[in-house]
Amino acid sequence: MAKKDYYEVLGVPRNASSEEIKKAYKELVKKWHPDLHKEDKEEAEEKFKEIREAYEVLSDPQKRAQYDKFGYVGHPEGGNTYQSWGTGENPFGGSIFDDLEDIFGTFFGQSPRGSRRSGKNKAARGDDIYTTVWIDIKEALYGTEKEIEYTRYETCSACHGTGAKNGTAFKTCPKCHGTGVITIQQRTLFGVMTTQSTCDMCGGTGRIISEKCPVCGGRGKVTKKKKIKVKIPAGVEDGGRMRVANGGHAGDNNGPYGDLFIIIRIKGMPSGLKREGTNVYSEVDISCVKAALGGTVEIDGLEGKELLEIPAGTQPGTVFRLKGKGFPAVNSRKRGDHMVKVNIVIPRSLTSEQEELLRKYADTMNEEVKKKKKGFFHI
Ligand SMILES: [Zn+2]
Ligand SMILES: [Zn+2]
Repeated sequence: MAKKDYYEVLGVPRNASSEEIKKAYKELVKKWHPDLHKEDKEEAEEKFKEIREAYEVLSDPQKRAQYDKFGYVGHPEGGNTYQSWGTGENPFGGSIFDDLEDIFGTFFGQSPRGSRRSGKNKAARGDDIYTTVWIDIKEALYGTEKEIEYTRYETCSACHGTGAKNGTAFKTCPKCHGTGVITIQQRTLFGVMTTQSTCDMCGGTGRIISEKCPVCGGRGKVTKKKKIKVKIPAGVEDGGRMRVANGGHAGDNNGPYGDLFIIIRIKGMPSGLKREGTNVYSEVDISCVKAALGGTVEIDGLEGKELLEIPAGTQPGTVFRLKGKGFPAVNSRKRGDHMVKVNIVIPRSLTSEQEELLRKYADTMNEEVKKKKKGFFHI
């Protein structure tokens, strides 16, 4: 059967403006929607298909020009012209569905737009990916670059994420006849009630895949191993995270990519060192003698051992500040401090020589202390 002239189908002159074409299309679609033709459904479906096909060509200036010049669009062999159009990016050009939504939104007094969101063919943002990367203290202090390997879904390039072979193997949804909307009529006390809902077969897109993409098996996505280099700034916190926009999984039905979150863990933190912002805190034990006489003590710092000067007469709980020995703030050269709290340790046991010396010390202070035990163990 020879194809009908698209202008005739829409009943517009060959020089019709795009406004006139759209208006004619809207009226015809309302008139011939298959759900409104229960008796002559087949004829209506055929008609509906013709109307859509004609509109798809005549509403697109490029396709219209091609049609005017050659009398066809796409493959001259015929068949469903809309299946052979375009690059596969979006074989339907998208706009036609928006138009249908507009029409039925006003026509039926409710917009199917909201309910379409959950449709199974609807584009959805991809999932985020979380990955952990370990860095050592030095890298945390000075910043580093890390290579991160992970696997994610990417949009299938063979079908441009559509899941249809070559991105074009679609056919009109048989359930909704390409409208994306299904109409249910119910007899009630008040007469026949008509309700519309999103077509569950096509998710409201009006089309279904006629042949699956052999590369992705119809998923529209393929798994890919990714290797990316990430600059980790100096001063990051343990458990801090960085976001790589669009580094996550591809979305369903060509939806946008999710993000990649890199959780940074710092390894090799000396035990007993606590971080708070850019400062670090630790404690150190010194003997009461060192506290009284002064000296130095070795402590664990972020960059290894540090010598801390203990002045004579240091009191318990004194906090010493090692300036610039903490972490830098992110994007700043200035480093925080390392605060060391001093614990003074009293000897738990003494040799008799040490005891003797301490008793002499007590005498100089006129300090009354416990008398020496003349016990079993002493002679
Ligand atoms: Zn594919
Ligand atoms: Zn459908």
